[in-house]
Amino acid sequence: MLRPMTKQPQQFASDNYSGICPEAWVAMEEANAGYAPAYGEDAWTERASAAFRKLFETECEMFLAFNGTAANSLALASLCQSYHSVICAESAHVETDECGAPEFFSNGSKLLTARTVDGKLTPDAIRDLATRRRDIHFPKPRVVTITQPTETGQVYTPEEIRAISGVCRELGLSLHMDGARFANACIGLNCEPADITWRAGVDVLCFGGTKNGMHAGEAILFFDPKLAEDFGYRCKQAGQLASKMRYLSAPWAGILESGAWRRNAAHANACARRFSKAVAEVSGVSPVFPVEANAVFLALPDAVAEALRARGWRFYTFIGGGARFMFSWDADPARIDALVADLRGCLLTSRLPD
Ligand SMILES: *Cc1c(COP(=O)(O)O)cnc(C)c1O
Repeated sequence: MLRPMTKQPQQFASDNYSGICPEAWVAMEEANAGYAPAYGEDAWTERASAAFRKLFETECEMFLAFNGTAANSLALASLCQSYHSVICAESAHVETDECGAPEFFSNGSKLLTARTVDGKLTPDAIRDLATRRRDIHFPKPRVVTITQPTETGQVYTPEEIRAISGVCRELGLSLHMDGARFANACIGLNCEPADITWRAGVDVLCFGGTKNGMHAGEAILFFDPKLAEDFGYRCKQAGQLASKMRYLSAPWAGILESGAWRRNAAHANACARRFSKAVAEVSGVSPVFPVEANAVFLALPDAVAEALRARGWRFYTFIGGGARFMFSWDADPARIDALVADLRGCLLTSRLPD
C-alpha cells in the first residue's frame, strides 16, 4: 500500500511546481466518463480546436504536443530545411533548455543567437544576423523565433512584434513564437491573443497550457494552413501523437471555454506584482528585470540566497543572473508575504557583524 505524499508547502521556484486548475481537472473528469475515438478523432479535440479558433478570431490549425520542447522543436523544424538556420535570442529556451532538440528534429538546422539585454530580439539584431553571411558555406537564415514573454519575464508589444515581422517578410523569414507563458503576456499587455500573433505577423505559435494550469499539453497553432501541411506526420514520428488525445484536448477546452486561462494568468501576474512591490520596500534587494508578467528576478547577495534556501525556500539562480521567483495560477498571497518576511529576516541576519 502506497502512503500518500505529505503536502509540500507552496514554492515559487517554477510555475511547473503547481498542480492542475479546477477547470482543466473537471474537463478531464468529464472526458473520462466513457469511450471516445483515439488519436484526436474525438469530440473534445474538436471542441479545443473550435475554442482556439474562436479565441484567435481566425481559422488556425491546432496540434497538441506533450511538452514545450517538442512543440517548439517540431514547429521550428516544420518551418525550415536542415541546411537553414533559426535566429533567436541567446537566452531563448530553444537555445539554453531544450538539449539541442530544435537542431535534432530539424536534422541539423543551426540556431543563430543574438546577445540581448532582456531576451528580446530587435529588428536590427535580426537583420544583422540574417544578412551577415549569404554565402553557400553558411546555413541560410530562414526562421526567427521570439519568446513571449521572454525567459526573464518581459513582453513584446504588438508594435514591436509588427516591426519584427516586417523585417522577417522583407528578408524571407518565418516568424515563430514560443508562448510557454503566452497567457501571461496577453494579460500583461492587456491585449487579445490575435493582436500579438497573426495580426502582428506571427506564423506559428506554441501556446503553453502546462504553466497556465494544465497537467500537460502544449498547443501548436498554425495561422497559415499551408504551413501545417504534413505536420501531423511530424508529430507522430516524434512520438508526440497522443493516442488518448482527449486527455490533452479536454483541459484546453475547459480552460478556454471557461476563461480560466485568462483568470489563471491574471492571478499569477498580480502575485508577481504583489511580490515585487513588497520587496521594493526592502533595502538590499533589487529587481533585475522589469516585472511585466509572472516572474520576478532579484539580485541577492550569495549569503542571503543561501540563508533563504536554508529556511526552506526554493528558487532558480541559473536563469538571467538573479534569483527567480515565478508565480502560478494558484499562488497563495499569504505564502508570498511569508517569503517577503523571510527575505527581510535573511537580509537582517546577513548584515549583523560576526
Ligand atoms: C517551460 C518553457 C518551455 C517548455 O518546456 P518543457 O519543459 O519542454 O515543457 C518552453 N519555452 C519556455 C520559454 C519555457 O519557459
